Amino acid sequence: CGIVGIIGKSARDVVLNGLKKLEYRGYDSAGIYLNDLNGHEYLTKAVGRIKNLEDKLSDNEQGLVGIGHTRWATHGKPSIANSHPHYSSDKRFYLVHNGVIENYAELKEKYLSDVSFNSDTDTEVVVQLIAKIAKEKCLSGFLAFKEALKLINGSYAFLLVDNKEPDHIFIAKNKSPMMLGIGDGFNIIASDAISVLDQTKLFIDLQDGDVADVTASAINIEDIAGNHIERKPYLVNIDP
Ligand code: GLU
Repeated sequence: CGIVGIIGKSARDVVLNGLKKLEYRGYDSAGIYLNDLNGHEYLTKAVGRIKNLEDKLSDNEQGLVGIGHTRWATHGKPSIANSHPHYSSDKRFYLVHNGVIENYAELKEKYLSDVSFNSDTDTEVVVQLIAKIAKEKCLSGFLAFKEALKLINGSYAFLLVDNKEPDHIFIAKNKSPMMLGIGDGFNIIASDAISVLDQTKLFIDLQDGDVADVTASAINIEDIAGNHIERKPYLVNIDP
């Protein structure tokens, strides 16, 4: 299982190539969300190889923001409906996740009894919860994300897009691998650096508990409580 996201650069091929380099981690299905920052968004999923996903994408389905995922099913069988990205019922938020949400059943019962779900995954509970908090408390996507994270127990590498503010990718890490790559005019996030070394060699090692707001030109890392965190980037000196 793996994740790749990029913002500020033609996203589709970078995400697909990154996912292919993460194939070694194992997966049963794959998916991608693209937003062209001009009002068009594309969500595509496929069971089996990344090639199946690639074959489903038509040439005009491109984005300047993209998040992709290879899934190793833990909750819900391998299927199109259960593959990521998952989305909220209002189709505002799109989320990819590696890891396991331990308290998803309690969260679903406590906060989301009125929501109709599209999948059997633990992950969908998180994206529905973010949407619910954003709507009920009238919060921005990033604030709603941090509120939701306070309620979640488990392991995660999350990439979230809010289509009200699609020029951001919101990310969070806890006990699942995730690296942040810094590019010239773009930023990229992946499960490991090797999968995106053809894009940049400058990386930030995110730590458990880190949450970040990533745009094409800026990275703001915080803890879940909202305190700013400085993390020094370093150069990875290996050839792709
Ligand atoms: N627990 C999630 C699922 O079953 C994510 C699995 C993964 O890490 O790929 O969909």
